Amino acid sequence: MPQNPNTPSLAQRLTAWHAAQQRDLPWRAAPAGQRDAYTVWVSEIMAQQTRISTVIDYFNRWMERFPTLASLAAADQQEVLKLWEGLGYYSRARNLHRAAQVVAKEYRGVVPDSRAELLKLPGIGAYTAGAILSLAYGQAEPILDGNVKRVLARLWDMERSIDETETTRELWRLAEEIVRAAPAGKAGAVNEGIMELGGLVCTPQNPRCLLCPLADLCQAAQNGTQSQRPVRTPRKPTPHYQVAAAVIWEEAPFQGRLLIAQRPQDGMLGGLWEFPGGKQEPEDADLPATLRREIQEEMTVEIAVGAPVTTVQHAYTHFSITLHAFHARIVSGTPQAIGCDDWCWTTLDTLDAYPFPVTDQKIIAVLRSGI
Ligand code: SF4
Repeated sequence: MPQNPNTPSLAQRLTAWHAAQQRDLPWRAAPAGQRDAYTVWVSEIMAQQTRISTVIDYFNRWMERFPTLASLAAADQQEVLKLWEGLGYYSRARNLHRAAQVVAKEYRGVVPDSRAELLKLPGIGAYTAGAILSLAYGQAEPILDGNVKRVLARLWDMERSIDETETTRELWRLAEEIVRAAPAGKAGAVNEGIMELGGLVCTPQNPRCLLCPLADLCQAAQNGTQSQRPVRTPRKPTPHYQVAAAVIWEEAPFQGRLLIAQRPQDGMLGGLWEFPGGKQEPEDADLPATLRREIQEEMTVEIAVGAPVTTVQHAYTHFSITLHAFHARIVSGTPQAIGCDDWCWTTLDTLDAYPFPVTDQKIIAVLRSGI
């Protein structure tokens, strides 16, 4: 006889399943609930919006360089961004770095063990706070990420979109109810168990209900609606932009050192370096005109635009771009950092010292290949 999901049973089953099935990952050296808070924090921030298989190498490199919160707090931001290079969502790295400095200074280097204090730190929201509190400090505090939302929406066969505020509130309430029902000392295991179940069994497509420890408690499985859950609110189509970037050479015709610019700290990809340029506007006659206008506005110099270097496609969360890179050189003026935080001349060999977005790394690869 099918049962309705009841939270004590869910918590029991998740605890047992987690003990038997959890993946062996580098940040799981200690049992869930007894881990080092800094380690939990770094791994959870890295894992947001990123595949676990990608996170592993980044995590290992990070912990080798910044094994403690104190070592991260003392680091230069450029080194922090360099280690994050390629992971995307760079505000995560900047916030982690700033928050480590706050913890080092104001909390004597000890990651706070209260939700209210954690939420004051840059980059820590309700999810990360719940992860730190349950996985490091063993507290029965809920977490709600994409995996947990999907599992809960299926367990309760929710017909409303999980993108609605009211549904989110309900999901938090259920997540809290489940973790509060955890056996003694197992709050971390229950939270990690439900996330892990979402990652391995209750996957977005083709959930493996036959292998699921919660199958007889799951309303969607009973109703045959798993593939229709969770209900999502359709997203608006994301806009696409044509963007131009200038590989500005110091010497004529196009040789010598290269000019790179640092993006403003508070904007997208803040603190990273790039080949300067910008979005094509309707009034620009063509892409070289876009570049001449952008470089004049950003750096107050006039450039001559030469042959194309390469074209790169890239999708961000809310828009996508086609980035057209061109060789260029300055024909009048001295660069000034007006629309950027800084600029410098560098060589192809020394570019690796600077953190670049993925798009600019592709331009660098083409430049190095000599095409
Ligand atoms: S029974 Fe299927 S749909 Fe329900 S939680 Fe398990 S895997 Fe997900």
